[in-house]
Amino acid sequence: MTHDCSFLTDLELDGAVSFGDSARDNHAGDWGTPEEEQVRPDAVVFAASTRDVSTVLAAADERRVPVTPYAAGTGLEANAMPAHSGISLDLARMDAILDVRPDDRQIDVEPGVIGSAVDAAVADHGLWFPPLPSSGDISTIGGMIANDASGMQTVKYGEVGDWVLELEAVLADGSVIEVGSKAVKTSSGYNLGDLLVGSEGTLAVVTRATLELAGRPAQIHGGRVLFETLDDATAAVFDAVRSGVDVAKIELVDTTSATMANAYSGTDLPDLPMVFLEFHADEGIEAEVDFCRTVFDAHDPQRFEVVPDDDGMADLWQARKDLAFAIRSYDPDLTALTPGDVTVPIGEYPTIVREVKDLAGEHDLLIPCFGHAGDGNLHYSVLVDESDPDEVERGKRVSGEIVQKALDLSGTSTGEHGIGTGKREYLVAEHGEATVEAMRRIKRALDPNDTLNPGKIFPETAEGARLWVDEPERNVSGDGDSTTE
Ligand SMILES: Cc1cc2nc3c(=O)[nH]c(=O)nc-3n(C[C@H](O)[C@H](O)[C@H](O)COP(=O)(O)OP(=O)(O)OC[C@H]3O[C@@H](n4cnc5c(N)ncnc54)[C@H](O)[C@@H]3O)c2cc1C
Repeated sequence: MTHDCSFLTDLELDGAVSFGDSARDNHAGDWGTPEEEQVRPDAVVFAASTRDVSTVLAAADERRVPVTPYAAGTGLEANAMPAHSGISLDLARMDAILDVRPDDRQIDVEPGVIGSAVDAAVADHGLWFPPLPSSGDISTIGGMIANDASGMQTVKYGEVGDWVLELEAVLADGSVIEVGSKAVKTSSGYNLGDLLVGSEGTLAVVTRATLELAGRPAQIHGGRVLFETLDDATAAVFDAVRSGVDVAKIELVDTTSATMANAYSGTDLPDLPMVFLEFHADEGIEAEVDFCRTVFDAHDPQRFEVVPDDDGMADLWQARKDLAFAIRSYDPDLTALTPGDVTVPIGEYPTIVREVKDLAGEHDLLIPCFGHAGDGNLHYSVLVDESDPDEVERGKRVSGEIVQKALDLSGTSTGEHGIGTGKREYLVAEHGEATVEAMRRIKRALDPNDTLNPGKIFPETAEGARLWVDEPERNVSGDGDSTTE
C-alpha cells in the first residue's frame, strides 16, 4: 500500500521532505520492530516547527494520508512504525531548549530534545528531571511523553507523565491546542494533557512541553545485594517497598541476565540473583540504608554491599542499562521475541517472577528476567532459535501466557513500553470491551479520519483493519523516489 505524497513538495515548510530510500528505510521501524514487520513510509518529513507539523497534518488529513510521528525510534513495540505507510513525521530536529525557569523548577522544550539534554541544561541550577527511562540518553522527550515512559527512579519519583505540566500539540486536522497549565495544579476542564500522555502519537503530535524539575539530592548511595535464590530476592524487594524503605532505584537482575551482562559489558557480576539499589536524601542517608539492610536481612542475603556514588557504582548501573543490548547480542543463534514489560501490584511481584521462571523451565526456553522491581515491573526476553519453528511457537505461546498471568494478578500487559502493535491482542482482556470502545470513541472524536499513527493500539488493527476508514478511499498511488532535501 502506497500513498501519493507528492503534495508535500508544494507545502511551504521550515524543515525538509525526503522521498529517498535511505530516509524511508530508516523510518520503517523502531528498535522493537522485527525486520519482516517493517513498513517503509512513502515520505519522511523532517519537521522544524509547530507550523510544519500543523501544515503537514492539515494537508495529509484532507487527503486521507496516514501520518506517523517518529522521534528517536527506540520504542520497543513498533510504536513509531508506519503500519499503513504514508508519512513518517520526524520530530528529532525540533530539539530546542526553549526556556529554563529555575525558580519555578520548570523547563520548556521542543519534543525532539534528548532526555539527558534536559538534565544537562538544568544541572547548573542544581536541578534535574528524575523520571528518565534507562534509554534517557538515546530517546526524546516527545517519545517519552507519547509512551508515558518511566525508568529506574520511578519507584521514588513517578513516570514521565507525572512531570508534564503543559503541552502544545497539533491535532490530526492541523489545529494547534495547549493543554495543562504551568501552574503545578489545575482542575480546569477535561485533563487533556493526561489523555495525550501515553497515546503513542495516535491522538495528537506534541510540539512543546513544559516539564517540572526536582532539586538534586545532596546525598546518593548505591548498593548491591546478592541472594542465594531468586525467590529471596523478589521477596526482599516486596518487603522493602511494603515497609516504606525510601529507595530511589531497586532493580532486579537474575542469574541469566548477570551472565549476559558479563559477556557484553565485561563486568564480573557473581553467578547469583541480585538487587541493585540507590538511595537519595538531603541528609541522614545512612539511616535509610540501614533500614533497608534490616528489611533485607529477613531474606537471607548473601552479601549487602554499599557502594558510594563512585565509578564502581556507575559501572554496575551501566551494566544494568546495557542489559537490553547484552540480551540481544548474547547468542547469535537466539532471537529475542518482543521485550516483555508486564507490571503487577508489588505484592504479586514474587509470584510473577516465579511464574516466568517456571514457564521457562517447563518449556525449555531461556528467559532472562530483570527490571524495575520496586514498581512491580518485570522485563524479560523470551529467546528462541528462529530456525526451530516449534521453539518459536512455544516462545510465542509462553509470551502470551506471561501477559495473561500478569492480568490475572491484577497487573498490566505493559508498564512503560506502550501497546504499539505487540500488545494489541491483550487490550480487551485488560480493560474490557466497553472501555476499549470508549477509547475508540475518543480516537474518532479527535482523529475522525484515522490519520495519526493508524494500525496501533486497537486489537482489530492486528488483522490489518482500519478503525473506520475505508482504505480504498484513501489517496493511493505508485511508489515515489525523489527527494527535496
Ligand atoms: C536500550 C533501551 C532501553 C529502554 N529502556 C526503557 C525504560 O527504562 N523505560 C521506558 O519506558 N522505555 C524504555 N525503552 C523504550 C523507549 O526508549 C521509550 O519508549 C522512549 O520513550 C521512546 O522514545 P523515542 O524518542 O525513541 O520515541 P519513538 O520510538 O520514535 O516513538 C515512540 C512513540 O511516540 C510517538 N511520538 C514520538 N514523538 C512524538 C511527538 N512529539 N508527539 C506525539 N507522538 C510522538 C511515536 O509515534 C511512537 O508511537 C528502552 C528502549 C531501549 C532501546
